[in-house]
Amino acid sequence: MKKQANETEKPHILVTNDDGVAAPGLLALAQVMRQIGDVSIVAPDRNWSGGGHVKTLNRPLRVREVKLGDGTTALCSDGAPSDCVALALLGLLPRKVDLVVSGINSMANLGHDVTYSGTVTAAMEAIIWGIPAIAISLDGGQRNENELDFSAAARIARLIVRETLGRRLPKGILLNVNVPYLPIEKIRGIHNTRQGLRVYRDRLDKRQDPRGRDYYWIGGDFPTGKPEKGADIGALDEGYVSVTPLHLDLTAYPALASLRKWHWPFNAQPANGRTPLPTDSARPALIPA
Ligand code: MN
Repeated sequence: MKKQANETEKPHILVTNDDGVAAPGLLALAQVMRQIGDVSIVAPDRNWSGGGHVKTLNRPLRVREVKLGDGTTALCSDGAPSDCVALALLGLLPRKVDLVVSGINSMANLGHDVTYSGTVTAAMEAIIWGIPAIAISLDGGQRNENELDFSAAARIARLIVRETLGRRLPKGILLNVNVPYLPIEKIRGIHNTRQGLRVYRDRLDKRQDPRGRDYYWIGGDFPTGKPEKGADIGALDEGYVSVTPLHLDLTAYPALASLRKWHWPFNAQPANGRTPLPTDSARPALIPA
């Protein structure tokens, strides 16, 4: 007879986010993930949106247990989302994690947003430790997160996580998922996309504190984007979910090819377009060995 699946055979899913442990998007995600696997939650104790990929090195990280809106427990830390993932994967959780899912963020993470995004960089941290990861964001715009309906995005998250667990992501790849803010019946489908181009409209606001000292806010208008076909922004614009595979290798390969034609002044003559490594004697003193 076939062995019945028991609790320990369910996948272990780590849920995190960057909007903070009290965010409604985290609860919505945790609830659907519990339908798929055993869920652990390690999330930041405050909002880290725009916090980027952080490794806290100069202060200790504290972890405490909190209750979510549905009465279930979660762990939260005073570190960044990426710290939370590192904590979880490096030993805070006794059981090995099979998949990290970050979100549901209350705003889209499109184009260049991915380097600012705590949601996406939490998934990047998972990749560093060899664990597959998915970042999920809802294109909620500037709406208050407590007034957002996360139900469609939660269903999309469940569908994408199920598919990912069944198929297995290639090593080193994370999925950056963005869901349009539409009722589920209005969402037209899922498109595999590339990173699009955000148009940032930041402006520096200079103000004065009550003591007459200057301070600054990076303000301005909400970013827009170029709705190109095949790109994440274009897909959302047409009512599709975008799924963008990302990796951490930011090398600009076409530029690498053209750089090979440059002649760095302290190098010997390049042979066959390949730049030979400088010998120790040829290495100028100012360039550290
Ligand atoms: Mn956020």
